[in-house]
Amino acid sequence: MTLEEFKLLHYRFSKLPLPKEVWESEEYGLYTDLLHDNKDFFNWTLMDKFEKSGFESSKYCCLEMADKIYEGLDEKGKTEYGNVDIVMRKWDDGTYGIPIHDGGSSIIEIKFCPWCGNELEKASC
Ligand SMILES: [Zn+2]
Repeated sequence: MTLEEFKLLHYRFSKLPLPKEVWESEEYGLYTDLLHDNKDFFNWTLMDKFEKSGFESSKYCCLEMADKIYEGLDEKGKTEYGNVDIVMRKWDDGTYGIPIHDGGSSIIEIKFCPWCGNELEKASC
């Protein structure tokens, strides 16, 4: 499958909520398999999401980190608290960390990106 063909599937299957028949269809299964197995297609879906929301992914070390930071923001781009699905935070001073879900805003600071391995420099924020 080409990226252009994948984009068509993505646009079709990213209009939520999807009916149950769609979730169970072979074509949807193919789409989710490609999303998990093809890094180029996966990265394209991230870039598409960032572009549509105006999120600046280029200031992060990699798309995976950008995506984890993006997931931790609310609709206004502010840090979202109380969501236990959030796995990564970045503070204004450039500190990156794994949130401790105890109701507060504590994090376990990390120095290297868990996805690409690059050193996380505070000055780059
Ligand atoms: Zn990274």
